[in-house]
Amino acid sequence: MTIQIGIDLGGSNLRAAAFGDGPVPLASHREPVGENRAPEVIVERLARTIDELAGSAPGPIPVGVGVAALLRDRRGTVAASPHLGWRDVPFGALLARRLGPRYRLGVYNDANAVTWGEAVAGAARGCRDVLAVYVGTGIGSGLIIGGQLVEGASNCAGEIGHTKVRWDDHAAPCMCGARGCVEAYLGGRYLLARFRRELAGSQVATTVIERAGGSIDAVTPSHVDAAALDGDAWALGLWTELAALLAVALGNALAVLNSERLVLGGGVLGRTPGLRAMTEIDLMLVAPPASLEPLTVAAAELGDDAGLIGAARLARDGVSILE
Ligand SMILES: [Zn+2]
Repeated sequence: MTIQIGIDLGGSNLRAAAFGDGPVPLASHREPVGENRAPEVIVERLARTIDELAGSAPGPIPVGVGVAALLRDRRGTVAASPHLGWRDVPFGALLARRLGPRYRLGVYNDANAVTWGEAVAGAARGCRDVLAVYVGTGIGSGLIIGGQLVEGASNCAGEIGHTKVRWDDHAAPCMCGARGCVEAYLGGRYLLARFRRELAGSQVATTVIERAGGSIDAVTPSHVDAAALDGDAWALGLWTELAALLAVALGNALAVLNSERLVLGGGVLGRTPGLRAMTEIDLMLVAPPASLEPLTVAAAELGDDAGLIGAARLARDGVSILE
């Protein structure tokens, strides 16, 4: 049987799976990324995992790696990965050299791999024009146009998280160094900071803190979402603001892309049905009517597995294989 291997190298876990023809793994593996994140150490661990999953299967075996990083080229050079603490690391070249000619390696942005997975076997099955947006700690997104994954001239297309939704003196600072990025409002790390800031020494009348067991530090987006759905004024006000900002970013992207399927997922949006619904309502007002006509919005279906399926399938399909 021919197999493909998919890897998801995230900030917390290193996950890997071998696939045959379908989206169900033949074998899988998961371990924490751990403390030592030196590139050569990670490369060696990946190579061993890949060898184990490959077993005695005949080569060349496609291996796709989705990595939580901003890439610089089609050779898997990591420009920056705050999650891994890497900057200017020739990750793809190191891994390709270690793996040798038995494997055909492709390195992908993790959101791109996830998006491809949803298109192969999930919420965007059968769609040729897809925008997928994942709101988690940060915001990742992937684009498919005319059935092709769009990676861009230097492999950083689709960074919708860093499109601007405010551009004035009060625009929120973003970890990318700019201000006013939609990620600086909706990204989980910014949300939590904002909850703490607004609720500290609270003069605010809200049920959110008691929903979190009395501790401001325990307040999550789910608590705020439940409170907003119950009509809590503070939660509803915050969600109203944030839904509008996300809808502006999505609406602008859809005006450019004319996608047929918008996939929404990620650790924040996956747990905040109220915020998602409010965003979709605003989107209907913000996006150009012509771009809404062919559009359906769907929740991501595959969760953590999407990145593994997508990376394996991109490598099998010969997308951005290292020569
Ligand atoms: Zn930014």
